[in-house]
Amino acid sequence: MLVTISCTRPVGAEWPATDLGYLLHKNPSRRQTFEQSYGVAHVLYPEASDDRCTVALLLEIDPVQLVRGKHKGTPDFSLGQYVNDRPYAASSLLSVAISTVFGTALHGRCAQRPELTETPLDLRIELPAVPCKGGPEYAERVFAPLGWTVVATPLPLDPAFPEWGDSHYVRIELTGTLRLADALAHLYVLLPVLDGSKHYWLDAAEIDKLLRFGAGWLTGHPEREWITRRYLTRRHTLVRAALARLAELDDAAPEELDAIEADADDDAADAAAEATGDAAAGSGGDATESAETEERAPSLAVLRRAAVHRAVLATGASRVLDLGCGQGALLLELAADRAFGEIVGIDVSMRELKIAARRVRRLPEWQARRVTVRQGALTYTDASLKGYDAAVLMEVIEHVDATRLRALEQAVFGAATPGAVVVTTPNSEFNVRYDGLAAGAFRHSDHRFEWTRAEFADWAHRVGAAYGYAVRFEPVGPVDAEVGASTQMAVFTRNNGFTENHDGDEKGAA
Ligand code: SAH
Repeated sequence: MLVTISCTRPVGAEWPATDLGYLLHKNPSRRQTFEQSYGVAHVLYPEASDDRCTVALLLEIDPVQLVRGKHKGTPDFSLGQYVNDRPYAASSLLSVAISTVFGTALHGRCAQRPELTETPLDLRIELPAVPCKGGPEYAERVFAPLGWTVVATPLPLDPAFPEWGDSHYVRIELTGTLRLADALAHLYVLLPVLDGSKHYWLDAAEIDKLLRFGAGWLTGHPEREWITRRYLTRRHTLVRAALARLAELDDAAPEELDAIEADADDDAADAAAEATGDAAAGSGGDATESAETEERAPSLAVLRRAAVHRAVLATGASRVLDLGCGQGALLLELAADRAFGEIVGIDVSMRELKIAARRVRRLPEWQARRVTVRQGALTYTDASLKGYDAAVLMEVIEHVDATRLRALEQAVFGAATPGAVVVTTPNSEFNVRYDGLAAGAFRHSDHRFEWTRAEFADWAHRVGAAYGYAVRFEPVGPVDAEVGASTQMAVFTRNNGFTENHDGDEKGAA
């Protein structure tokens, strides 16, 4: 992935074009390399003369590093995570690189040539491949009003097969006389806006930067609505990514669109608690429910945990499994309830488990000693999961491939056979109520499916019948007359009525 920025010395100007190097704080005579969390950024100057100077910012992106980085709340094993256009196309990662490698120039600062930061320069920017789903005219529509002459050329899908038509990538050439800081800000904000796909924002401060660098020119832009809409859609991703980065402070899985605003506040509370070393307040759940947060309507994540907590309590369970416990928000909530004698969190993701374990360790001792977390894959039978009173699958089944779901059903309902099973999953009918969610899109990139109420009921009735469980349903979150509630919950209770002696059962297994 590459961008080049050329500066031509105006006729009669006193300064050489190579002063671009001062503005960028990068010496034209050297090639420099900057380690980034997603790969490596190189800065080099293919030409550097008094009349014309060109800088190239070249990103070598490692898709595997992108996946391994802390950019996601949950693992995603799909091939698309590894094989994608990120190494080749100028997208949000280029924005990130501009802000990290050319940060001082983006802020319009230059100690050696302060006057040049304010001088409009004759610039030419070339971007060989920009994902531009709306077509080349969108490049024109967003850059031209800012003073750029835009040439946007669609790239063929495959030059060897012209009949296949164009791809959604365009080559963009921008020429104009602008301040360098403005040019960088335009790229910084507009490249991710043109690219409609999921972004990998690397730190929470990106949110502020995006607002700051757009502020000067966006209000007067004829396409401000479209740009802002795209930007706001992205903002969900930004906030989610920011939450993922702050994972250990997070109060819920960072995937819930519905929980973003409230959880962001909880994070702030947690972060503050962390900073002051207040372990109790940092433990999430009740402790973070300060006077201020109580006034707000509780987030869906909070409502969901409360509904699951109530449902498990109503089964009379004492020993409880939290299957796919993630970062352990429910574990913490159950740990504070003396009704539960043993709480076990299982998850396939070591990363999530580490966070859960750390949060459990911060609990008061009487709570922490009843909680264990360990790794496990729910699609494989695990004898140690047998004999529990209840199991929770909160926002988990939709992360399992439809073809593997049968294996999970067998492992949980067929082999572990808890007395009750509480399952929650998104109600896909409710998705139309989320403005930021495109029609037909899932709430999270790792979701393999999202079900309507009828689909969930079909599944639950089939599983109940196959394994001998009665099932009842409950909406979670405010109920919309037309589309129902955002989350749907099924509570399964084992039919056979025999009251197993769990101690005896364990001895038998030993
Ligand atoms: N229950 C938590 C987390 C939900 S996110 C909450 O509601 O906050 C889904 C979780 O399921 C992730 O942590 C993911 O790692 C876990 N998961 C997905 N597939 C799994 C599998 N096959 N075995 C175990 N855990 C799995």
